[in-house]
Amino acid sequence: MPPMGGPRGAGYLTEEEKQNAPKITGALLKRVFSYLLPYWKQLLLTLLCLIISSVCSMLPSVLTGRIIDDGILGRNMRALVTLILLSLLVTFLSNLIGVAEGYLNTWIAQHITFDMRNAMYRHLQSMSQRFFTSNNQGDIITRMTSDIDGVKSTITGTFASILSNSITLIVALVAMYRKNWILATIGIIIVPLFTIPMRKAGKTRWTLTREAQECNDEINGILNETMSVSGQTLVKLFGKEDYEYGRYENANRRMIRLNIKESLAGRWFRVIISTVSSIGPMLLYLVGGILIMKYDSSLTVGDITVLVALLGRMYGPVNQLLNVQVDWIRSMAMFTRIFEYFDMEPEIKNDKHPVIPKEVHGEVEFRHVNFYYEPERQILRDITFRLREGDCVAIVGPSGSGKSTLVNLIPRLYDATGGCVFFDGIGVKRLDLAFLRSHIGIVTQETYLFNGTIRENLLYVKPDATEEELVEVCRKANIYDFIERQEKGFDTMVGNRGLKLSGGEKQRISIARVLLKDPALLIFDEATSALDSISEAKIQEAIDPLVESRTSILIAHRLSTILKADEILVLKDGRIVERGKHRDLVALGGVYTELYNTQFRPDAEAHAAEDKDGESTGSGEN
Ligand code: ATP
Repeated sequence: MPPMGGPRGAGYLTEEEKQNAPKITGALLKRVFSYLLPYWKQLLLTLLCLIISSVCSMLPSVLTGRIIDDGILGRNMRALVTLILLSLLVTFLSNLIGVAEGYLNTWIAQHITFDMRNAMYRHLQSMSQRFFTSNNQGDIITRMTSDIDGVKSTITGTFASILSNSITLIVALVAMYRKNWILATIGIIIVPLFTIPMRKAGKTRWTLTREAQECNDEINGILNETMSVSGQTLVKLFGKEDYEYGRYENANRRMIRLNIKESLAGRWFRVIISTVSSIGPMLLYLVGGILIMKYDSSLTVGDITVLVALLGRMYGPVNQLLNVQVDWIRSMAMFTRIFEYFDMEPEIKNDKHPVIPKEVHGEVEFRHVNFYYEPERQILRDITFRLREGDCVAIVGPSGSGKSTLVNLIPRLYDATGGCVFFDGIGVKRLDLAFLRSHIGIVTQETYLFNGTIRENLLYVKPDATEEELVEVCRKANIYDFIERQEKGFDTMVGNRGLKLSGGEKQRISIARVLLKDPALLIFDEATSALDSISEAKIQEAIDPLVESRTSILIAHRLSTILKADEILVLKDGRIVERGKHRDLVALGGVYTELYNTQFRPDAEAHAAEDKDGESTGSGEN
């Protein structure tokens, strides 16, 4: 019986797929095939295998004629046995080559997806922060996984199916024409004549199945809505029992009708298929018989048997080639989606001739910097400040005033939309990106630790760090005591497969991680979330000596941190509205004073004793 479905799933496009069908242009095809090009040798070999295996698979049908004419009717025992053995051998050979072809096919598909996946990963890595914040993570992962996996089935399925079916068809046609042109022509006419109505019948059934599925979803939806506690409460309180019953009964009735229709369509479908597939051979027997009896005595019974056998072998390929159009459109849509990602230009690019300075000081300067994520909403306006080597700038301001955005411009997570950011006196856009980022260490508000051991997380930034270095940075980050207390020490698992760390512990590990990087410029985005006072004190202890010893920018939420700064920048609505030292700013009675009263002062009160000490240091510095 000829196969009806396509090689992959239903052989019909949904309305949505039809609407979203991509424009298949020469450029698109060229691009798709450019991925095949590096494997042209293997492809050629596959093609050869396909041709040989197709010819071999047709031979037994052709040999049947000889078996009948020469062997059975010719009463030649030797010819009969030889031809039967030959036929068996050829079938075996054809399958053997089929294995080789399958191997080659999979090999090529796997290598192409390997190339594509790696290229895509590299490409996505070069995408800027904006890409990741504005794209759904799920979408990115789907493209990396399912879409690229789809390429594999396109090559092993769609492309291979087109090739092998076309070759089988050509071989069958050539063999038929060599036997008898009249019968061959009848064959060519009847195959599509019968496969097309069969496809139509198949489509009707497929539509009915889909409708039944939708109806089933609707019924489940009603059950879900109304059989829950809250749903029932609502139904009861509003007296909607009859209404809901009506809805349920209606959907159920529709479902029954669809199911009966579908089952009946299935029966008709089978009737059509079996009749259609027997009409073809019978027609050949009829015409063949007439030809033998009346017109062409050279035609033999064996020839007619061969023609009928070959005709039977044509239904499958013709039908699959008709279905392939659907797979083809799906594949092209998938390639288009993948190419869309490949075509996205990375926003942050390394300069063509990047500068790599010999010395690093970690100095930063902002000159009239403006920035927006979306043009309609300016985030930073005219930011100008300078941070000299060894100094510390604290940035304070209400939530959403642009503090994190400002520091993200230094390692070029985003580029300023106006003005210029300098690192060691050189515009960041001119500096080598890897160089720039390697000399900046950022401890972000939300610390991110990979799912691995503490050691792995630390070594991420410096794989060749020694045990002594690890101990040293952890001591400095005030986390070593904690690690030592763990049974497995540095080899303790963190993240969802192991130890659950508190916010403070995570921050201290990430401070240790940054210290291992030993950056010229340290940026510390203090967590806004409330940490308990012990954690806070420990972080403070870790941060204090660091700030004193290197160039740093602190986004501060706590007075004790702010007091360490050589200059405080007060940010409001993306503007520096006040700047100076703590004492002067408090005296101003502006934004800083308000922040001090609402945010910082309670902190100060909580650590009254420390404050005294701190303020005296602070004022000493002032
Ligand atoms: P907080 O103290 O709460 O961390 P902040 O001062 O650091 O705030 P930013 O995170 O810099 O503020 O955000 C400044 C403004 O930019 C906010 O209004 C925020 O909504 C907006 N914003 C931040 N990131 C993006 C983004 N990726 N795309 C669009 N807008 C953003």
